[in-house]
Parts: sequence; C-alpha cells; structure tokens
Amino acid sequence: MSQAASLVNNLIRPEILALTAYHVPDCTGMIKLDAMENPYLLPQWLKDEIAATVADARINLYPDPNPALLKEKIRQLLALPDGMGVLLGNGSDELIQLLAMAVNKPGAALLSVEPSFVMYKMIATFVGMRYVGVPLGDDFSLDLTATLAAIRSEQPELIFLAYPNNPTGNLFSASDIRQIIAASTGLVVVDEAYYAFACDSFVPHLTCYPNLLVMRTFSKLGMAGLRLGFLAGSSLWLDQLEKLRLPYNVGVLPQLVAQKLLDHHDVLLGQADQIRKDRAALYQQLSAIAGVQVYPSEANFLLFRVANAPLVFAGLKQRGVLIKCLSGGQLTDCLRVTVGTPAENERFIAALQESLS
Ligand SMILES: *Cc1c(COP(=O)(O)O)cnc(C)c1O
Repeated sequence: MSQAASLVNNLIRPEILALTAYHVPDCTGMIKLDAMENPYLLPQWLKDEIAATVADARINLYPDPNPALLKEKIRQLLALPDGMGVLLGNGSDELIQLLAMAVNKPGAALLSVEPSFVMYKMIATFVGMRYVGVPLGDDFSLDLTATLAAIRSEQPELIFLAYPNNPTGNLFSASDIRQIIAASTGLVVVDEAYYAFACDSFVPHLTCYPNLLVMRTFSKLGMAGLRLGFLAGSSLWLDQLEKLRLPYNVGVLPQLVAQKLLDHHDVLLGQADQIRKDRAALYQQLSAIAGVQVYPSEANFLLFRVANAPLVFAGLKQRGVLIKCLSGGQLTDCLRVTVGTPAENERFIAALQESLS
C-alpha cells in the first residue's frame, strides 16, 4: 500500500471509509427523469428580470448573512405567526446536517422510516450518530405501532418524516404523524420537499407542538440549481441552530434570484399545477400497462414495480431515458420516474413499453 493510502486508512473514520459517495449518473443527451427536477424553464420576461437583478449583484462582497427581506417573503408565504421564523440552508440537505450536529450528544439517535430519503441515514453516519430505521408497512404507510415502540425504546433526539415521502410518493396519515410528534421527547422534523405537489402541510400545526419543525426546499419547485432550503418553526429552536450555520451558506446570487422568484411564486406554482395534472395522466398510463404496478403519489414522481427493474432500467437508459432504479427490501424491482413535460412523459412511456417487451 502506498504511504498516502495507509495514512488515509489510518486517519479517516472506518464508517466513512465504508461509505460509497452519493452517485450522480452521467446524463449527457438523456431525458432526465431521475432527480425530481422541474422540467420547465422560466418565461422570458422573468428571465430578463433575473438577468437585470443579477447584473448589479455585489459578488465582490460576502453575502448578507441574514437576508431579512428573503426571510420575510418566506414568512409571508407560510403565514408564520409571531415567535416563529425561518432558517435558510444551502439546500435542505445542509439543514438535515445542521440539525444532526446540534443534537448529537454521545449515544444520541436519529430515527426515520424506511424506505425514505437516504440522506437522513447518510448524515447520521457523517456526524457519528446512531440511526434507527423503522420499516414502513406493505403499502408504504407508517407502521404506527412499530414507530411508537421504537420511539419508546430508542428515545431518538431527532425524527425525520418526509411528507410526502421519497421515494414512495405517498402522504403518511397526518393523524399518525401527530401521534408520533405527541409521543416524542425529541425534535420531529416534517420534511415537505414536495409541498407544491401535495394537498396537505404541517405548517398550520407548528403552533400546536413545541417539538415540531417543518423543513422545505425550493429544489423540487424549479430552483434545484440555486440550492436553497429552509426550516420553519419556533425561534427558540432556530436561534440555537443559527449558531451552527456557517455564516455565508447561501450565496449572493441564490439570494437575489430566489427573492425574485418568490415575488413571482405564482409562476412556479402554475408549473407545479401542470406537473400535478401530468402526474395523474402518467399514473393512468402506467396503470394500463400489463406487468406494471404503480403506486399513488402526492409528489412530482411516481414509484412503480416491474418484474425485473434493473433490466427495464437498462432498457430505458439505452433508449435515452434516465430514471432511478431502487433496490433492497421493500423496493426490490421498483423504479422511480420524475414527472417531466408531456413530451418527455410520452417518450418515457414509449421507451418503457419497448423495454418491457
Ligand atoms: C430532494 C429532497 C431533499 C433535498 O433537497 P435539497 O434542498 O435539494 O437539498 C430533502 N428531502 C427530501 C425528502 C427530498 O426528496
């Protein structure tokens, strides 16, 4: 072994050596339906407004560490009451990490359900926190009995519930989640990454529970490239988390562009509406294909099961359509497709039919 290799092996924590880095596949020239991105561009007039804003940006200066105007716009969007605020993150991934760091006393645990968003478990590993994953039921609903039992025995400091859940797409029962929040002595974070495509939210419940925070991101709403997420909830929590936030975590350009886009939130919500309609159509088309079992979704993607997912995935890829192949346990032979433009969805359905035959 080279000297550098042995140094690396000695110094890097074993659980980090054992990780494989989050894989982002090459998608040059492909129809990209693997990452829940919004497929639509902005109208020209809005692009022009953004260009004008950005042209005057003071990129020679550090960003505003507390962009009050941007935060106020988000507060208004959520109709947050007094005593509640928002904390901005470089995507919500950064906020998951910040929360984990904040509560990670020796022996502390992070609980989530499985299958769910992989970053919860990965970030628990990054910070050296115990991870507890409670399996979902067969229909991907919460197993309330098992979850409450795990909360009692493991006493997790931090619980993440994605609402709607990724990669399954369903909304868990709100009353189950409320029972989990009520039963938990730890902090419960409801992750609403897909809020724009769903019909419910926990923002109105923030005032009811002292241990609830809601996390959102603008990534799935057409701003994945900006990297902007936020936590909403009591300032008592946010003031502490604020101390851990790296001072310049959201750059000058993302701040300006996000502010402009939030002034025209209706444009993005209009795109989300279109995506919801196309999701319904895509669901119908998938259900009609023999050998495909599709699951209901409140997000901008659909999960479906076939006889041999790796083979179908490869067939789609060969035909220029990139989706996500899932694996392991309940997700064996499951594929996840992001809802694209109607033309992209058509190409996907055609390629799927060819890959299945
Ligand atoms: C995509 C996703 C995120 C991450 O969002 P970023 O803001 O892009 O980091 C968080 N939670 C869930 C459930 C997601 O699917």
